[in-house]
Amino acid sequence: MDVTQHFVQNRDMNLIRRTLLWASTNTWIASHLPRRKFVQRAVRRFIPGESVGDVITESERLYKQNIPTIITMLGENVETREGTWQIVDEYRRAMDSARERALDIEVSIKPTHLGLDMGDALTFKNVSTLATHAAGYGTLWIDMESSAYTDATLELFRALRAEHVNVGICLQAYLKRTADDLESLLQIGPRIRLVKGAYAEPENIAYPQKDDVDRNYLSLAETLISHLERGGNGFLALGTHDSAMINPSVDRAREAGLGRDHFEVEFLYGIRRKEQKRLVEREVPIRILISYGDAWFPWYMRRLAERPANIWFVMRSLVR
Ligand SMILES: Cc1cc2nc3c(=O)[nH]c(=O)nc-3n(C[C@H](O)[C@H](O)[C@H](O)COP(=O)(O)OP(=O)(O)OC[C@H]3O[C@@H](n4cnc5c(N)ncnc54)[C@H](O)[C@@H]3O)c2cc1C
Repeated sequence: MDVTQHFVQNRDMNLIRRTLLWASTNTWIASHLPRRKFVQRAVRRFIPGESVGDVITESERLYKQNIPTIITMLGENVETREGTWQIVDEYRRAMDSARERALDIEVSIKPTHLGLDMGDALTFKNVSTLATHAAGYGTLWIDMESSAYTDATLELFRALRAEHVNVGICLQAYLKRTADDLESLLQIGPRIRLVKGAYAEPENIAYPQKDDVDRNYLSLAETLISHLERGGNGFLALGTHDSAMINPSVDRAREAGLGRDHFEVEFLYGIRRKEQKRLVEREVPIRILISYGDAWFPWYMRRLAERPANIWFVMRSLVR
């Protein structure tokens, strides 16, 4: 492939990605497309079902293969206090159900699903309730949403971390600020899930080129690994499917003497299953994040944007 072809292909990919990310936030599309049967069929590859029962059953199946999970209910920007309390209750029931079956299941939440648009105090109370419920069983993870919420999410994490050791936060390598954020969090012994970042962000705050994001990802992983190597508190979850991020970071973590109580690789359900198996065979600790619920449309659009080749699955479902 010559340079011009490469440039055109990259430009087209970026256009497809941006269009899919735009569709993920468009309310008309969000209310019409999910009703289509072929879209529902395609989404099954990434979401085993909509109910708590579905996600617990799938977690049980994976647990039998020595793969623990994280579960997350899809949804964001809940607009009533009562709505957020229902979500807290649902998560508590899911945790109880995991315990009854003695499964290793952690929970990951989105701050705007638990009230961030309505104020910090409400969100703090909701997430704190869940962290208390999860105590002794695992980490309560906080997802990172778009950059409009980065400051509030970091503040929420700091406040929670002062009261709970079992909270973790996601940091995004595409944001230019993340190196500074990580540096300042090291003092509190953070549990960090490091991802590349899934939202459409402007170039003044986020690296537009994949190479820069990848370079930053490896550098951030190194910062946390050296911190843990020096005996600092914390945990590194490599939330990526990219072998170019996973392999060197896992090698480096092992060289630093870090075991499963200090690091793991986290995948999204349904993505790179062979790679998951390969890591399990190498005794690399992994965990799969499974999403469930009926509010899957914006989430699914973000997954398509990450790998537009997945549109092929949608097309195949249309033909079937
Ligand atoms: C456990 C976990 C939690 C996450 N939490 C957050 C969060 O809180 N906030 C946030 O902004 N983002 C989150 N993400 C998403 C993340 O930011 C990336 O958008 C996503 O992981 C894709 O980037 P990548 O690191 O896999 O690398 P890429 O460079 O995008 O992909 C590397 C390779 O992985 C495979 N791959 C990647 N994505 C897909 C896909 N959708 N379908 C099929 N194959 C694929 C392909 O083989 C691709 O070549 C999370 C990701 C994971 C794994």
